[in-house]
Amino acid sequence: MSTFQSSEERIRYAIMGGTFDPIHFGHLAAAETVREKLNCQKVIFIPSGNPPHKKGRVLTDSIHRYTMTVLAANSNPYFEVSNIEMNRNGYSYTLDTIKELNKYYGKKVELLFITGADALLEIETWHKVDELLRLCSFVAVTRPGYDKSKLEQKLLYLQSKYNVELHIVDVPGLNISSTDIRKRVREGASIRYLVSDAVEQYVFKYELYRE
Ligand code: NAP
Repeated sequence: MSTFQSSEERIRYAIMGGTFDPIHFGHLAAAETVREKLNCQKVIFIPSGNPPHKKGRVLTDSIHRYTMTVLAANSNPYFEVSNIEMNRNGYSYTLDTIKELNKYYGKKVELLFITGADALLEIETWHKVDELLRLCSFVAVTRPGYDKSKLEQKLLYLQSKYNVELHIVDVPGLNISSTDIRKRVREGASIRYLVSDAVEQYVFKYELYRE
């Protein structure tokens, strides 16, 4: 029996990597929109452990970011949360994560990494990008109204340089940001309807983002 599997037979899992400090409805809407539009069987949220590009900023402890992600993803049967980056020593590179997931799921699963449009513009600064782009496809999510001309040019350039599959998906409600949520908490403003109720309660219970 042949072990070859055509791309038609492969199933897709989306990987939603992020700092998630904290996770908000923009992230959840992006994950759900990509899942539906690109026919993914599930979305795996992976809170980053020690991201190499955040050297200058103190992140909230990964156990808090992970727990909030679990609370937020809980109500969607297509969402899962993984702790593989949190449990890794040293910097958490996306390449290591994708290699680990490829090994675990095997050839029957195609992995699609979801990221913000601005991050995709910077992807050539990521660790071993040529190897990374050979191992998984990327999805850049944009909020409606985002000027996509630069992004589309970059995608064409990346596609021809690395021979990879890249997607752009518009996501309603993506203009919520974790930075803005942290600022609101610091200033005593409401974060209701920006994060799930469970995440809001968690932020107040553990007094996160007060300073
Ligand atoms: P970031 O630089 O903090 O975020 C850049 C922008 O993208 C922010 O506006 C952010 O919004 C948004 N964003 C982040 N993740 C998103 C997602 N999955 N979907 C939609 N928007 C998203 O990015 P980050 O969260 O630290 O990193 C994103 C992922 O890229 C992580 O898994 C990280 O490990 C990976 N990464 C890897 C490397 C590498 O391997 N060398 C380098 C850079 C990034 P919020 O602030 O509201 O989240």
